[in-house]
Amino acid sequence: MASKAERASDAVIIAAARAIISADYVIGLTGAGISVESGIPPFRGPGGLWTKYGEPPMNGYQIFLADPKKAWEDRIRRQNDELWGPLRVAEPNPGHRALAELEAMGVLRFLITQNVDDLHRQAGQSALAEIHGNWKLIRCIECGARFRAEDIRLETLPPPCPKCEGLLKSDTVAFGEPIPPDVLAQCVDHAARADLVIVAGTSATVYPAAGFALEVKQRGGILIEANLYESEITPVCDMSLRGPTGEVLPRLVAAVGELRRARLS
Ligand SMILES: [Zn+2]
Repeated sequence: MASKAERASDAVIIAAARAIISADYVIGLTGAGISVESGIPPFRGPGGLWTKYGEPPMNGYQIFLADPKKAWEDRIRRQNDELWGPLRVAEPNPGHRALAELEAMGVLRFLITQNVDDLHRQAGQSALAEIHGNWKLIRCIECGARFRAEDIRLETLPPPCPKCEGLLKSDTVAFGEPIPPDVLAQCVDHAARADLVIVAGTSATVYPAAGFALEVKQRGGILIEANLYESEITPVCDMSLRGPTGEVLPRLVAAVGELRRARLS
């Protein structure tokens, strides 16, 4: 286990930046660790939301489908819960902004996140797949359209899809619910093209997210990890940048920028 004081050296940051600018197609994979620094508590572990409130049922999707009206009533009743508080006030941190900058530089082609907190979008990331959904959105489980929650009228529950009258639910993916096929297809497509993955703030042990990184590795691609601690994916990573993602990712992106400027001059 890495000690808390461990920090990536400049040498390893520069080595990672070199690998990134030499790669043909760079994608990213992020998880809860990147949002902890924005005050979003993790689900599991000490202080975790599920530790405090109990794990959601493993068949949450089936419960929703069995009684969507009740699921919507529960959702409306729980909107002022402490559970939602951190999501309302959270803002992107330097880690989110660094990845958005890497995209703006034309280096990061696509980002897969397991987070539902909307912070990558707020940071300006546009080539983005939120594989577990986005807490601010409502999704039609029939036509797949997404809507902002505030745009959905709640006179009848469950509210009908404005496009197809289909069944609407929160965009966040419940246990037992398949990853929405449009999002999954995008991830498969970009992972198939990738030759380097930046794995940030996640142990990448939750499937299908882990599979995208491991698949790139198996094809001979490079995995660069940015994480506070060693994790289950560390042994297969080519480089590990130890430290808070809010510190390590800005250093990495600055190094990528410097190397690119040096190449162009
Ligand atoms: Zn619809």
